[in-house]
Amino acid sequence: MSPAPDLPLGRFLAFAESHPRHPAVEAEDRQVDYGELAILVRRLARSFAAVKPQPKVLIHLPQGHRAYAAMLGALMAGGCYAPNNLSAPSARQAMTLKLFEPDLVVTEASAWTGFPGDSPACPIVDVDALTGPALDAPLEAGELAYVMFTSGSTGRPKGVMIPREALAHYAAWAWRSMAVTPQDRWSQHPNIAFDLSVLDIYGALGAGATLCPLNGARDRLMPADAIRRLGLTLWNSVPSVVDLMRRAGQLTSENLAPLRLMTFCGEPLTQDHLEAIFAARPDVVVHNTYGPTEATVSCTMLRLTSASYRRAVAQNVALGEAIRGMTLTLAPGPAGSVASEEGEIWLSGPQVALGYWRDPRATEAAFGEVRRQGRIERLYRTGDLGRRCGGQLYFQRRLDQQVKVAGHRVELGAVDAALRGCGVLAACTVQIDGELHAFVVDPEDRVDPEALRRALAGRLAAYEVPKAIHLVDALPLSANDKIDGAALIAAYRRQGVPEGVSEEMPDHGSD
Ligand code: AMP
Repeated sequence: MSPAPDLPLGRFLAFAESHPRHPAVEAEDRQVDYGELAILVRRLARSFAAVKPQPKVLIHLPQGHRAYAAMLGALMAGGCYAPNNLSAPSARQAMTLKLFEPDLVVTEASAWTGFPGDSPACPIVDVDALTGPALDAPLEAGELAYVMFTSGSTGRPKGVMIPREALAHYAAWAWRSMAVTPQDRWSQHPNIAFDLSVLDIYGALGAGATLCPLNGARDRLMPADAIRRLGLTLWNSVPSVVDLMRRAGQLTSENLAPLRLMTFCGEPLTQDHLEAIFAARPDVVVHNTYGPTEATVSCTMLRLTSASYRRAVAQNVALGEAIRGMTLTLAPGPAGSVASEEGEIWLSGPQVALGYWRDPRATEAAFGEVRRQGRIERLYRTGDLGRRCGGQLYFQRRLDQQVKVAGHRVELGAVDAALRGCGVLAACTVQIDGELHAFVVDPEDRVDPEALRRALAGRLAAYEVPKAIHLVDALPLSANDKIDGAALIAAYRRQGVPEGVSEEMPDHGSD
């Protein structure tokens, strides 16, 4: 049976009632207990509901207890929310505002620099200047919990619409499979505009655990140090963060000592990651989970220990079984697929999103329905090629132009659209050894690559800006007259840049 749609909010309010002094959120500068957080949630809910029944709330707040309270407050008011990415360039933030058309924006004085161009036409609620009473009980709710905006191939972000039912299903699975208790101290590393943060926020606050946002510069650079200092028992991030820890020489038994569980999602976990973790802490448990934003964070899980992990490693670590209630199937693979055990991963069940915000065409292209056990379930075609081998399911590669850069989802088409927006004639961005390279058509030698990168930084998130811009006379075409990205990669690998082109390769900047 599916859990009640408001289970995460209900469990939070019930725990706050019974354990008001238990620490809910512990940041570098401030500790907030469950009682205090619940008061803020109830007051925000009242002020949101006063604007409109079932309001759409844009959360313009940094990672931390105010943002978490605003999420729960939007749910309590019967509405839904979209978290704004405060580290995205202002043009991107303005686009989120325009697409979402919120009924209100919730912010705090220190985070409020306004939006460029269009200021919100709606009311702005300052979380530190709330007046009026708190809300006693949750109001009648709409279907949606949140809308998460992610990279879209045309340059227009796609808003993934997650219903309350999906959030409740996922959170209930997380509490169960991770055996979360009030003694747990849980990392909150991902930006709140990325859906991996949903696991931290609802996983911890729905189970009475203490959530520790890592928003200080030191903790973001030295995350393993924070594990020791904050006594974290649960760690959740993309695997790239393990690379960061490793490079900084931080993956030590001393730093990882408090942990009981590390959980990963968002990109391939590798044997190297596991070996580094288990070398430091042979007794820690690792969960590899897999899933897209469109199916509420993750839909599979594999439990790994130092004794068992070798059985689940091929070119990367296996993805595990579908979580209870979700179904994972491999659709017939693309032309050239060799084995029947290989195919696009299709996901169905209660965690699948309702589609993309106000984008019926993109919704129709990626979502569908399937009849299972007499019920109609939503279905999402992931664009991931999966392969079953030796009883395990492995991620092979993407079937489209979506890539991951240090764990961040990027549509290469969005980078090309931004390049064209900067006045470039034609461009093709590809990923080579994890980094983005843009090949820009410039037959008359007019483009200044550094100036172009600066212009791109005003339109794209830092991780979306190509590390190298190569100026070329023309782009190679494939047999069906499409720009041939594979030919560009092959030529780059052979000689640095394709034959007969001028090259400008700026130093690699940092994010
Ligand atoms: P996002 O919506 O940002 O979570 O990105 C979803 C995509 O990340 C999936 O469609 C996969 O391509 C990739 N992904 C997520 N989890 C894993 C995993 N455990 N292993 C490999 N790729 C993953």
